[in-house]
Amino acid sequence: MSKPAVIVHPRPDLDACVCITLAGASPQDVHFLPAGATEVPSVCPCCGKRLTGAERILDHPLGEKGRLDADGTRHSAAVSMPEAKNADPKLLAEVEEQDSTGLVKQPKIPIARIVAAVRTEASDRGLRDTELDREVVSTMSRIIRGLNLLHGAQESARSYIAQSQVKEVGGCKFAILPPGETPPQVGIILNEEYDVSGAIYVTGFNLGVTRYPGRTTPDLRKLQPHLPGWFVHSAGFLACWGSRKSSATQPPPTNCPQTQEEILALMRKVFCLYAQTSSPRYKKARAGRIEYCGRHHQTADRRTAGTYSSSRPRNRATSNSFCARKA
Ligand SMILES: [Zn+2]
Repeated sequence: MSKPAVIVHPRPDLDACVCITLAGASPQDVHFLPAGATEVPSVCPCCGKRLTGAERILDHPLGEKGRLDADGTRHSAAVSMPEAKNADPKLLAEVEEQDSTGLVKQPKIPIARIVAAVRTEASDRGLRDTELDREVVSTMSRIIRGLNLLHGAQESARSYIAQSQVKEVGGCKFAILPPGETPPQVGIILNEEYDVSGAIYVTGFNLGVTRYPGRTTPDLRKLQPHLPGWFVHSAGFLACWGSRKSSATQPPPTNCPQTQEEILALMRKVFCLYAQTSSPRYKKARAGRIEYCGRHHQTADRRTAGTYSSSRPRNRATSNSFCARKA
């Protein structure tokens, strides 16, 4: 009996791969439908083939997706499949940890077991002797080459990170990235290993701040009133003058930040102020506004009350000490 085709999200992760395998689908019978799709189209966006509607939808919001606990923990789709009862519990535990926390702290399956698994699977398909050995070498050499490539990419990401500065803003850490293109993996390493919430970047005329996936604060929409003409994403994870998807061809308006340091200063004012919204001092001071003095890159703060009220332009040093006191 032939297995039905399967639909998963693009860039399949461990959970999606395990789902596909448990369903018994072969790779050519897998279709990739963006996770944001609201219905299954009649023509597949990944291959242009006609979809019948009989496809099994796995690890996708339109189909079988893992259980969601009351505390917001999302479980893997694989453990929820009926076929999971025949799967290795160590494999399911690893998928589960990866999917609900984004990281497996103590992997449960050593690489030597993967070599044994590759051999067992090829043998199960009927391969023997030299043919079996060659199959093991073929599969394992691709995995090992990929591990070494990942390692190389991580090393170059780490040396790039060593040139970045990490600054505190309203209780969150933000990286000031070196100008230019950011190597892949930098965001993942900063987010997962350095507990950095996001980054301020500059590339040509592109200037902006982005919050990393999985982070919910700060809400970058709060910068919008100070950034006329900038793009601020409605989900609050991006505020930018030009991005990789849509490059700017001229500098930002002069009443906006012109440099990464000025974005940082604006964020410190906005997010340190928001942290203060419930204090009586803030209420007295809320008549104050934040302004940019064109190319002088300094901000004037015209609050009328509070210890940090001042009519003089605030330089970077006083902004920092303001933030350190309030954060
Ligand atoms: Zn397809």
